[in-house]
Amino acid sequence: MKVFALVGARPNFIKIAALERAFRSKSAVDFNIIHTGQHSAPEMYDRFFEQLSIPRPHYEIALHSKIPHRMIAQITHEFGDLLFSEKPDALILVGDVNSTLGGALAALKTGVPVAHVEAGLRCADPNLPEEANRVLTDRVSRWLFTTETSANTHLLAEGIDKSRIHFVGNVMIDALLHYLPLSRLLDVPKQLGLSDRSYILCTIHRNFNITREAVLRKIVTLMKDVSRYAPIVFPVHPNTAFWLQKFDLLRDLEQLETCILLPPQAYLEFVNLLENAALVVTDSGGVQEESTFLNIPCITFRPSTERPVTLTNGLNRLIYHETVEEMVEIVGAHLKKTSNTARTGGAPELWDGKAAERVVEILTQEL
Ligand code: UDP
Repeated sequence: MKVFALVGARPNFIKIAALERAFRSKSAVDFNIIHTGQHSAPEMYDRFFEQLSIPRPHYEIALHSKIPHRMIAQITHEFGDLLFSEKPDALILVGDVNSTLGGALAALKTGVPVAHVEAGLRCADPNLPEEANRVLTDRVSRWLFTTETSANTHLLAEGIDKSRIHFVGNVMIDALLHYLPLSRLLDVPKQLGLSDRSYILCTIHRNFNITREAVLRKIVTLMKDVSRYAPIVFPVHPNTAFWLQKFDLLRDLEQLETCILLPPQAYLEFVNLLENAALVVTDSGGVQEESTFLNIPCITFRPSTERPVTLTNGLNRLIYHETVEEMVEIVGAHLKKTSNTARTGGAPELWDGKAAERVVEILTQEL
């Protein structure tokens, strides 16, 4: 049985690490990773493959452009040709990035059945590119593997037959559980001169937050103001660095003594920073889930989340439309919660490190 798995961006690499490990135990499966090239810089790609011991891709697309429609067109074309000639029995797609949608279109037009891991998440904002990618990918998938029960509800409401929906848990948490012991050997806060639970970790990279000057300025003002409470550690995503520079905001952060700017961190380093933070401020999907699992208070700079279990079971809190003053107060109050604050609903159901095994069991049985 031949299975292809398409990856393109940082969060995909982490999820595929968990899936590849589960597939490795099945000698009858020929598992091949294809990289679209969406994230190709060493700190966003190679470092993850090395650190997580992911086998090098079977095929890599050399993207001519990272403009979404051009990128999706090239992936559909080039990956479609590969699917057509190699005819795998199934294609695994993870998450909601543009590469995921390119892969879904290529599979649709070459007749390769798709398994979507992390299906059914919805934030009810059709303007968000990730939301469109999720909806369209789910539409063409034969197997829809979900991480939380809200996703099952959305898929059923969209008319997807329940025999195709499988609630398996979260492969991102499989990876977290697997790599935590290695991450705990590090002491990144100490290297930065910080003690544990004394700092705020920040990650911001969503286009709707970074490409509009007023919004990015608001985030920078918020960071300056909350750095009164605790120092900020900010691994800067390459896209965020670009827009901070363009709007002349990078200097503000560089001049802020209480803000430590870092390049994007490798996974083990980032998890080490997250596990020891007092609070995380983010707009990342994966970080909302990881902080929920680790019980780290999280402020999400977004009007909505497609991962509501992080609100009901975790210490996640959304901010977006409030004034900066109101946000500063919310962050201050949230900072008083510690990782000792009991989770309201316990760890989310099936976030137990076995999601990838469930995916593999279902796929190998059905194929
Ligand atoms: N992450 C990382 N280094 C960083 C920031 C994040 O390894 O500097 C990891 C994080 O632990 C999580 C994943 O990247 O597993 C989230 O990816 P990202 O925020 O880029 O994408 P999203 O989850 O929002 O799709």
